[in-house]
Amino acid sequence: MGYMTRVRCIVFNAALGALDYRVPEGMDAPPGSVVVVPLGPRQILGLVWDEGELPGDQYPEHKLRAVLEALPVPPLAAPLRRLIGWCADYYLAPLAAVARMALSSSAALKGGGTVTEYRLTGEEPARMTPQRLQALDLLHGEQATMRELAEIAGVSEGVLRGMLGQGLLEPVLVDSDRPYPAPDPRFTQPDLAGEQAEAAAEMVSAVEARRFQPFLLDGVTGSGKTETYFEAVAAALESGRQVLVLLPEIALTAAFLGRFEARFGTVPVTWHSSLKASERRRAWRQVAFGGAKVVVGARSALFLPFADLGLIVVDEAHEIAFKQDDGVRYNARDVAVMRGHFEGVPVVLASATPALESLQMADAGRYRRLVLPSRFGGAQLPRIEVVNLTEMQPARGRWLAQPLVEALTDRLGKGEQSLLFLNRRGYAPLTLCRHCGFRFKCPNCSAWLVEHRLSQRLACHHCGHEVPPPPVCPECGEPDCLVACGPGVERIADEVRELLPGARVAVVTSDTLASPAAAAEFVAQAEGKAIDVIVGTQLVTKGFHFPELTLVGVIDADMGLDGGDLRAAERTYQQIAQVAGRAGRGAKPGEVLIQTRHPKAAVIAALASGDRDAFYAAETEARREAGAPPFGRWAAIIVSSEDEAEARDAARAIGGARPDEPGVLILGPAPAPLSLLRGRHRYRLLIAARRSAEVQKIIRAWLAPLRMPPGVRVAVDIDPYSFV
Ligand code: ADP
Ligand code: ZN
Repeated sequence: MGYMTRVRCIVFNAALGALDYRVPEGMDAPPGSVVVVPLGPRQILGLVWDEGELPGDQYPEHKLRAVLEALPVPPLAAPLRRLIGWCADYYLAPLAAVARMALSSSAALKGGGTVTEYRLTGEEPARMTPQRLQALDLLHGEQATMRELAEIAGVSEGVLRGMLGQGLLEPVLVDSDRPYPAPDPRFTQPDLAGEQAEAAAEMVSAVEARRFQPFLLDGVTGSGKTETYFEAVAAALESGRQVLVLLPEIALTAAFLGRFEARFGTVPVTWHSSLKASERRRAWRQVAFGGAKVVVGARSALFLPFADLGLIVVDEAHEIAFKQDDGVRYNARDVAVMRGHFEGVPVVLASATPALESLQMADAGRYRRLVLPSRFGGAQLPRIEVVNLTEMQPARGRWLAQPLVEALTDRLGKGEQSLLFLNRRGYAPLTLCRHCGFRFKCPNCSAWLVEHRLSQRLACHHCGHEVPPPPVCPECGEPDCLVACGPGVERIADEVRELLPGARVAVVTSDTLASPAAAAEFVAQAEGKAIDVIVGTQLVTKGFHFPELTLVGVIDADMGLDGGDLRAAERTYQQIAQVAGRAGRGAKPGEVLIQTRHPKAAVIAALASGDRDAFYAAETEARREAGAPPFGRWAAIIVSSEDEAEARDAARAIGGARPDEPGVLILGPAPAPLSLLRGRHRYRLLIAARRSAEVQKIIRAWLAPLRMPPGVRVAVDIDPYSFV
């Protein structure tokens, strides 16, 4: 056909909608193609979209500008395009913002080719400088581009170039399109126990039938959920298809890789934010070409362009880390199910403490529930005891009550490991001046600065602002006057060291396990019994399997219950049940001590008696009565500005334009609990609606006609998890 081809493109410029372009003769640009298009004097990235599905401009045909280039990557397939469209629609996000999450490696879009990387040669330098010494030390075993090596080594590229000239570094040409070793589905095949085998068979048959089916794999901690869903992974591999496994945190990846390798003979491809650019490029392209068979990743892996996806697994599916709270505010658990739906493949949500929403879907028959009721190999669930802090108050400035101290002493004597859980990083949550009472506050956020003794700083956990602890009070000038109030994990670790001088104590938080390598090192140390007591935040509550760990102590079970948010009780239950699940996973029985001031609270009682069903049933009823999710639909509108008055006025303007819809309740605007965040003043509105209400449509119609000053940001959070 001789006439011109018109294509509608999502252009990667947030302010614009879709634009039409002309495809020049000889260029192939079907829907999903990644293209470069002109925009004014600039060239920008675009994504060719299905014309019928996107309103575009009415630009006359003869004025259309030509697509400049179709990039050398396979067009995004229809199921991924539908997913992008669905997310934009459901989460009220610009299409370009969602699409950008799929095009998550700019290097990958430019095609394959070779990259020059460098590595140490092992030569000894003739002239040693401190910087060279540092580089030789830190670059051991590394191979990367100059820029990446400079970052790893903490030296300038100039230093490295000098080392290259001296023969201390050598170049290596690598093909960015080299495939990954293929996992072997039959490398080792475990004998599955009865219930495991039944659950596996159902998942395998859905994989083989290539049929959309969400599964809720609901098994107590240590029941072998991983082992069981690995059979479904094997089935997908047998039929030559790809698998995506989502984990809530990178820190869990290290343990997962080892297990995967033991089962399939090679590690899977990883995808997370700390990958080097060259690794991202290779992974993205191999996912698109089908050479990456199994990808394990953080929530952003959901938008990778799989060539032939056969299965999605979301492990620890109840985790709130799957909810993204900035940019496009999506819940990866829900998006995973939608991707499975569009791809026509099964989705496995694995958890020992499923989200109430997931259980509700199972009850409604939308998800198929597979239950593993007991621990594998006869291991017993740990014995749980409550320590009533109102009766057994630790001394001032101490946080471990007598029974916990005794249990720790006992384990140390027997050479067994213990884990203390407190969901608070740093040394103390609040620091003040003993003399004048001055409290250290973040200048950018309504939050206290948290003292970190290990790294000697006062830090804001919201914006990252940090200062060294000052020698004198900034208010009254008194020297050496700082007092720590309340405990953080570092302070608990100090208390343990004082009580048990011989104990080897490890603090485990996102500060200490910042990279997969650090996590792997921790796992190796714990498995090698080089650690006696682990003191950690929620990071250590899940995934880890340490057979010698027989005691878990929960320092403050009441902490999470304060905030009064919708999921406070559920979250407390999940966290404590998960951390309790770390105890007694091997041959020796485990014990859990829960310190609380409210031993009669429903959550604590349910944990102590191990009656999960009763707890969930009561929670479900409470939510149903309150019309809260999953029985009602909630959404939040967050209005912010650097100027307090501007934020308040904007929030009032939005509030003033509130729609009057039956079954829709709109609360606020009110100052957000975190009323200042990263220098922006914040107001919130909450929309609580009947399940049948079309919340997105209502909000869209409400906000569309409002004009906001340029300094005001209005964010919509559908199904919010955070109420600060
Ligand atoms: P979960 O994920 O449910 O907490 P895991 O999959 O970590 O449980 O299993 C707990 C432990 O039991 C692991 O060490 C795992 O390798 C082992 N295990 C579970 N099922 C089997 C099986 N069928 N054969 C051999 N070992 C198993
Ligand atoms: Zn801050």
